[in-house]
Amino acid sequence: MEEPNKTVLPRPHYQTQAEAYMRLALMEAQHAPQQDIPIGAVVVDKDGVVIGKGVNRREADQDPLAHAEMLAIKEAVGKRYDGWRLTDCTLISTVEPCTMCAGAAVGARIGKIVFGAYEPKTGACGSIFDVVRDPAVLHRAEVIGGVLEQECGQLVTEFFACLRT
Ligand SMILES: [Zn+2]
Repeated sequence: MEEPNKTVLPRPHYQTQAEAYMRLALMEAQHAPQQDIPIGAVVVDKDGVVIGKGVNRREADQDPLAHAEMLAIKEAVGKRYDGWRLTDCTLISTVEPCTMCAGAAVGARIGKIVFGAYEPKTGACGSIFDVVRDPAVLHRAEVIGGVLEQECGQLVTEFFACLRT
């Protein structure tokens, strides 16, 4: 009898790469100010170099715009010498971006958005709204959701669990 084919398909490169980037965003999230929900984001350029980092600081800064993704995009744009477009860049966030952050990503012409945990209350990359892939949107980014979803979500869950005790 012939051996059954045990060959397992290799993990696609984009998945491995997305997870590696997500680890960087998770590291950022660890630096969240104590009172802020731990969400981290990074922007990487086409060579995979981090050109923007951000962590949620809304409470610490008392600034509703101080979401991790906004800060990462802002830093990335500041580092580019060739204008404001981030077409060849990827935004990686530990949590699904909200309407503001997804809108900012579209505005910056981000090429790809990778996020970890789905956000059923405010997610704007498919969960509640799809700001990024709406047919009316002029620039459409590629979206990969659920990368290291459990780890990313756990950070947030633990934060709220600590608040309750
Ligand atoms: Zn946001």
